[in-house]
Amino acid sequence: MVETDHEVALEDTDRIQGRAALVNNVRAATSLAGAIRSTLGPKGLDKMLVEDDGSALVTNDGVTVLETANVEHPTARMLIDASSSQDRVARDGTTTTVILVSEMLQNALELVRMGIHPSIIVKGYDIALEEALCEVRRVSKESGNIQKVQVVRTSLQGKGDSSLCELIGELAIKAAQKIAGEQGGDNLERMRIKRLQVRQGSVMDTTLVDGLMLLKSRVDFSSPASSERGNVAIIDGGIEPPKLSTNASIEVQNTGVLKEFHERARDSIRKKIDHISSIGADLVVVRDGIDDEAISLLTERGITAYRRFERADLDLLANITGARAVRDALSLRVEDLGSFSKRSEETIAEVSHTQIEGDGNGMTLVVKGATPAIREEAIRIFDDAIGVAHRLNSKPGVLPGGGAIHAHLARHLRSFSNTNPGREQLAIEAYASALESIPRILAENAGRDPVDVILSLSADQNESGAWIGFDLNKGVNADMEEAGVLDPEFVVSHSLSGSTEAAISVIRIDDVLWARTDPSTPNWEEEEGED
Ligand code: ADP
Ligand code: MG
Repeated sequence: MVETDHEVALEDTDRIQGRAALVNNVRAATSLAGAIRSTLGPKGLDKMLVEDDGSALVTNDGVTVLETANVEHPTARMLIDASSSQDRVARDGTTTTVILVSEMLQNALELVRMGIHPSIIVKGYDIALEEALCEVRRVSKESGNIQKVQVVRTSLQGKGDSSLCELIGELAIKAAQKIAGEQGGDNLERMRIKRLQVRQGSVMDTTLVDGLMLLKSRVDFSSPASSERGNVAIIDGGIEPPKLSTNASIEVQNTGVLKEFHERARDSIRKKIDHISSIGADLVVVRDGIDDEAISLLTERGITAYRRFERADLDLLANITGARAVRDALSLRVEDLGSFSKRSEETIAEVSHTQIEGDGNGMTLVVKGATPAIREEAIRIFDDAIGVAHRLNSKPGVLPGGGAIHAHLARHLRSFSNTNPGREQLAIEAYASALESIPRILAENAGRDPVDVILSLSADQNESGAWIGFDLNKGVNADMEEAGVLDPEFVVSHSLSGSTEAAISVIRIDDVLWARTDPSTPNWEEEEGED
């Protein structure tokens, strides 16, 4: 009876169960990881992503490739989510994460084929993760200034021209230093530093300036082009006459009505300007428009004004000056005012730019360069670099790069697995092999023989410890601290947890129901038959 109820309920679905479901899911994960594995590491190749409109982006960043791709398989989407979460939290290690999930899944499938129950595998993977995270903490060292530069350099390897990476990396470290200690969530380093593109000069002239700089000029050129030390008011709205709602109409019976209407609008504007002036603002920055009438009133009262600021710029300005944005000029209070230390205007590439500085945190990366492509590349490099540099300030642990930590964890877990009497032992070993894929693929992508690299790495680590890794630039095993190939601990730990979590959730799936109405339902029949 219960069975029949199910049959009726599932009439409109295709269904794969048990091992066939796992086979199908592992296959999706493997093909997704296969698409980006050749990008891993400094010697990784680039991918060219072509949009529908023909525009192209060349990148070797795993998460960019995945987020741009049109992936429909739900398991593949879970991997992409794991990689996006890695990007959001750690800003690096995205390719590594996807590769790890796929390797963990392939090894799990092997175990299932050997007759190990998925729940045993899940338990073994959990134990392995916990042990790996402990070992990561044990191996990590605290970074000083020199190591910070090396971590940023390592994370930028292969991301672009090396002198550009060097320059942008230095700027990112400088910027990260300035916002160190400030609280503010995952996106702080994006909010505090504006990226401004200037179509001029060479990308190597890119600089970091204090305060907010943007493509704007004051509303009235008869007001002074620059000023120092003053109060600023931020209005998250406009200084305009009240708008009539779109379907309202006024029937004008005589010219007096029209005049009165204008009078009232003018009065309301004057009241606003008088209020702004009475609380002592010297500079007014507005998100929407400023009425012509208001402009001349402001100038008369010695107030300089700017209009049509983007919300993100207003937020940054608020942080720089300590001002609090209000929606309407009349609700401004003295305590909403902030203070700026300097405001100046400069013509760059024939357009007027304004820079406003204050005592609070806020900077602008002025990205120069002749083409949008080169400027955008510089911005991507900066985003990666500051993401890592900023997080290193609060989480200073570093680990040997070049897959050394993964090779070490694999060896460590293999000997640790012996202490587990149950079948989980096999799962822990499978997990260890999955971790080894990182040095293997790094070597492979550099045109090395992966088996030779793993064997020599393992021998050298046995003798000299976890910090020995394969330096891809020199082609030899070396102490990664001396070679300066370092990965942040938070990147490695988050990637281990994220990939294990994703792999486990796929292993737990034992029934996949595809709604038949979805035209993209994959053809799984052949996969089911395979096993
Ligand atoms: P992800 O998206 O996972 O960060 P990347 O393509 O950025 O992938 O590659 C990161 C890996 O490359 C890290 O394991 C890092 O240690 C390694 N790596 C970077 N530079 C070197 C180097 N000179 N020698 C060996 N490995 C390196
Ligand atoms: Mg990276």
